[in-house]
Amino acid sequence: MDQQHRPTHRRLTRAEVRRRRRSRAIRRVAGLTAVVCLVVGGAAFLLNRKAPVPSASAAGAPASSAASETNGLLTDRLFPGSAAESTSAAASEGAEESRDNALGLTKAEAAAMLADPMMVLVNHTNKMPDNYTFDTKECGSQTAVNKTLQTAACDAFLEMQKAAAADGVTVWMQSGYRSVKYQTGLYERKTKYYTDRGYDTATAKEMAAAVVNPPGYSEHNCGLAADLNSPEHTGLDEGFENTTAFRWLCEHAVEYGFILRYPKGAEDKTEITYEPWHWRYVGRENAAKISTSGLCFEDYTAQLHAIAG
Ligand SMILES: [Zn+2]
Repeated sequence: MDQQHRPTHRRLTRAEVRRRRRSRAIRRVAGLTAVVCLVVGGAAFLLNRKAPVPSASAAGAPASSAASETNGLLTDRLFPGSAAESTSAAASEGAEESRDNALGLTKAEAAAMLADPMMVLVNHTNKMPDNYTFDTKECGSQTAVNKTLQTAACDAFLEMQKAAAADGVTVWMQSGYRSVKYQTGLYERKTKYYTDRGYDTATAKEMAAAVVNPPGYSEHNCGLAADLNSPEHTGLDEGFENTTAFRWLCEHAVEYGFILRYPKGAEDKTEITYEPWHWRYVGRENAAKISTSGLCFEDYTAQLHAIAG
């Protein structure tokens, strides 16, 4: 197998995930503390000017409500799980229609997005549903290992490729849909690699899973993931980041329904190292919403579940 064109999805080790989560938590607490200080300080300053002799309760009330309002917004962005609480609070006001959540979506809109087959979440803890079926179409480059994508994703890619070419940029689709059967072969070969080196089957499987997703757990199995490259850089590795193709994609891919699936800084959520070459089709409207949110796909779908209930 052409090693150069074999994507090297590297799953983070448990220790790496823990480290990233810890440093992220420290940043959150520091940021939150700064905001609380600013809000409380600002409110106290205003109260001092307007009410020279405030009672203790009067002074406390506005300051804490201002703080909680600001923190509510911030908390929703920083702690995805908390969206459920604010959503359920709003729901008591009869708000099936409420958009009072981090994504600004109604409950029905969130549910519709989750039901959209283009939004399927596939990762090493979410297996592609067994009844997930689709048609595929070819859009790979001459050297592509897997040349097809789901038809909608394929058409969108071809349109995107044309638009890039019009801007003088060449983008190739190097690896798209991989059947579960193909994935099984990759996974079994990797497992054998470790058993041949003396590891027992269970350990070998675990070690293989850190490099190649088990069948049904690779996003490439659903036909919506596309590993892209260009003549500037044909390898599927971080070097793709330094190409005009990558810069063009960062600016325009969203217009064609693609998002960068494993962004830098989201490793503790995706549990996959940064992959500038791996793009995911979700549809144009969904891509615009996800891109606006600034969240990675794991966080975005978690928020959708919280809103949809
Ligand atoms: Zn990939």
